[in-house]
Order: sequence, then structure tokens, then C-alpha cells
Amino acid sequence: MRHRIIVLGAGYTGAFAAGRLARRLRREDVAITLVNAEPDFVERVRMHQLAVGQDLRSRPFSGMFAGTGVELRLAKVTGVDVDRKTVAVAGADGAEELGYDTLVYALGSGWNAQGVPGTAEHAFEIAGRPGALRLRERLARLDAGQTVVVVGGGLTGLEAATEIAETRPDLDVALAARGGLGDWLSSKGREHLRKVVGRLGITVYEHAAVTGVEADRVATADGRAIPAAVTVWTAGFAVHPIAKATALEVTGAGQIVVDGTMRSVSHPDVYAVGDAAMVMGPGDKPLRMSCASGVPTAWQAVDAIAARLTGGKLPNVPIRYFNQCISLGRKEGLIQYVTADDRVVRAALTGRLAAVYKELVCKGAAWGVANPTFGLPMRRRRVTRERVAAGSAVAASA
Ligand SMILES: Cc1cc2nc3c(=O)[nH]c(=O)nc-3n(C[C@H](O)[C@H](O)[C@H](O)COP(=O)(O)OP(=O)(O)OC[C@H]3O[C@@H](n4cnc5c(N)ncnc54)[C@H](O)[C@@H]3O)c2cc1C
Repeated sequence: MRHRIIVLGAGYTGAFAAGRLARRLRREDVAITLVNAEPDFVERVRMHQLAVGQDLRSRPFSGMFAGTGVELRLAKVTGVDVDRKTVAVAGADGAEELGYDTLVYALGSGWNAQGVPGTAEHAFEIAGRPGALRLRERLARLDAGQTVVVVGGGLTGLEAATEIAETRPDLDVALAARGGLGDWLSSKGREHLRKVVGRLGITVYEHAAVTGVEADRVATADGRAIPAAVTVWTAGFAVHPIAKATALEVTGAGQIVVDGTMRSVSHPDVYAVGDAAMVMGPGDKPLRMSCASGVPTAWQAVDAIAARLTGGKLPNVPIRYFNQCISLGRKEGLIQYVTADDRVVRAALTGRLAAVYKELVCKGAAWGVANPTFGLPMRRRRVTRERVAAGSAVAASA
């Protein structure tokens, strides 16, 4: 009898987790199932590139996980019952229930309309592939001189506005930011950002809290109406509602509350990683939704699961930040160095070198997912017989 581990979601964190589990544990001891709605890996960090017409490399999971021992299930997760330890899925063969001993929840996030009226009806979003493809199709139909307003002055908003302006210099691109442009960056970072944004001809509306979106404009709290043939909404991410509908302890926003080993504080058989998890990072601050901190949460969870199943030492590696990597189109970038708890320091890398650096980071992350068992260790510890049989009971007491 093998210990059943189900990983929900094959984004950056779920795919990493499944591959690392296959590396850490023996096939005779564990059955690892990876459930994902889509048949291929989506590089979410490149959705702004997809939206402007760039074609991304296809990365089918069937090839990636072939021969790794990870069973891939293409299905949509519709619910989780943490008391019965089952997952409800709907796939090509209809609805089904899968039982688990250990669950790794990595369903990520989608866009967050923040309850602003008109956003759901009129705005475009780039939090996932369907949204990015919809925007791509709309942008392709825009005539020269038409206005695109990107709402949100965070990392995704900056990347989207600059990518659109660089690809379509004939359009009138604007950015509406709640605060000042890049106001959290170092002075070097801010200066560089202003220079690039100016060069690309992007109109910036600062301190512009958007309170409504209509078909042809966005309204701001200070009474402005900004014309917009297309509005692109990038103001934050929201997790999927599945976890909130379970008995798991979640935050108000629906993120699963986990400890330093990514184990649910309410249900010890459940681990959560990536955007779906609420975990405290350095400085007692919650980690932000990002690959930068999400991928290390997957490493941490897997090493903790392996340690608990095999009687090994629990990992205790603090997750920290090093930099914020921002693309500003294909030719420009900004690498803002930060402290462990994500506060900016003076140093920043700018220009073409920063663009190359960011590209390498994106490529590296995708390469890691595409080669899930690279570096397979020769020696892996055995899962003890009792632990396989007892499953969660052992995990709970570890
Ligand atoms: C445009 C853009 C740019 C970004 N740039 C950066 C960046 O530069 N640096 C950075 O650190 N972060 C960046 N991010 C954030 C980063 O992409 C996310 O934090 C990261 O993808 C989270 O990883 P994850 O594994 O938790 O979730 P995801 O990558 O979202 O993966 C979730 C997976 O679960 C699947 N799934 C969801 N629901 C279901 C369901 N019901 N059933 C089955 N499968 C399901 C999805 O198909 C997906 O495969 C960016 C995000 C966007 C949108």
C-alpha cells in the first residue's frame, strides 16, 4: 500500500512540488498524482507578453512528467473535503472523487476586480491565459490613436503598460496608479522607471484610485473620467474560492493559513503553497503572491512532507526575498534589490542588462518546471511502513 499524495494545480509551485516529491521519495512508497485543469504549463509571469501578440513556448505536461512516476490527471478541481480526505474533480470522464493521505494545495490565484463597479463587465485582465488571449484579440483590433488604460501601478501594471506601449507605439497608453509611479522603489529605480515610461509615451495618472469602469472610460475617486477604448485591470490577485468552502482555516481572502513548513494549521494532512497559502515571511510579514516566494514554499512543503514520512529532519530554511524583477517591455528592465523582508534598498540594476536578467529569471523558472526531476538524487530515504499505513495519523503527530 502506497502513501497517496495529491498535488492540486500545476502552476509554478504545484509542478515544482510534484517533481520534487518524485525526487525525494521512492516510487514503491508513494503514489503522486498531479491534478491540473490545463494540459500544458502556463507561464503566468509572461501573460502581458501573450496579450501583446508574442507566442509562448508550448510545454505539455505529458512530456514533462513522462517517466517521473508522477501520475497526471487533467481535470478541474471542484471541491475538497478535508474531513473525508477526498478531492472532487471533473474531467473528460465525468465527475470523480480522489482519496489522499497528504494533499498539496497549489491552485494559485486569478484576478481581483476588488468590487469596483463595471470592472467584471468591461475590463480585461491578464492573470491567466484565457484573459490574456481575450485582451490579445481586442488589442489586435484597436486602431491607431485609441486609448488603453492599465489600472494598477504595481509590478503587473508596470509590466503590462510598458509591454503594450512598446509593441503598439501607435496606441495611446495610460497607467492609472493609486499612489505615485513606482513610489515604493529606490530613487534610482523610480528615476529609471519614469525615464522609460516617458520614452514610451505612457500617460501616467498618479494618485488615481479607480472607482468605476465603463465601456469607454474609467472614473477616479477625484472625479476624473479617463477615456479608455480598452481597460486592463491589474489591481491585485484573488485566490480561488475552493479552500474557503472547506473546513480548512483560511484568511478572509481565502488563503490557507499554514505554518513554516507550509502545513495547514487546522488540518495536518494538508499543505498549501504559492498564491493559495498565507505564510508569514521574514519580519513577520505575509509573503506576497509571487513566484519569487511561491517556489520556495513548494520546496519547503515537499522537504517537510518527505521528512515527516521518512523520519528525517524537518527543513528550517527561512524564505527570503532578494530582488523585484520588473520587465519594462522587451528592451528595458528594472531589478530592484530588496531586504529579506522585501523592503527596497538603494541598489538597482537598470536598462538592457536588467531586461536580460529578468528574461533569464523567467526562463530559469520555466526550465525548472519543465525538468521536474532534474538532479534526481541517488539515495532517497524509505518511507517507513507504519507511516505509509497510518498516513495522516503519523503526519499529525510529527
Ligand atoms: C502578468 C503577470 C506577471 C507576473 N510577474 C511576476 C514576476 O515577475 N515575478 C513573480 O515572482 N511573480 C509574478 N507574477 C505572479 C506569479 O505568476 C504567481 O504568483 C505565480 O504564478 C503563483 O504560482 P502558483 O503555483 O501558486 O499558481 P499558478 O501559477 O496560478 O498555478 C495554479 C495552477 O492551478 C491550476 N488551477 C487553478 N484552478 C484549478 C482548478 N479548479 N482545477 C484544476 N486546476 C486548477 C491552474 O490552471 C494553474 O496551472 C506575475 C503574474 C502575472 C499574472
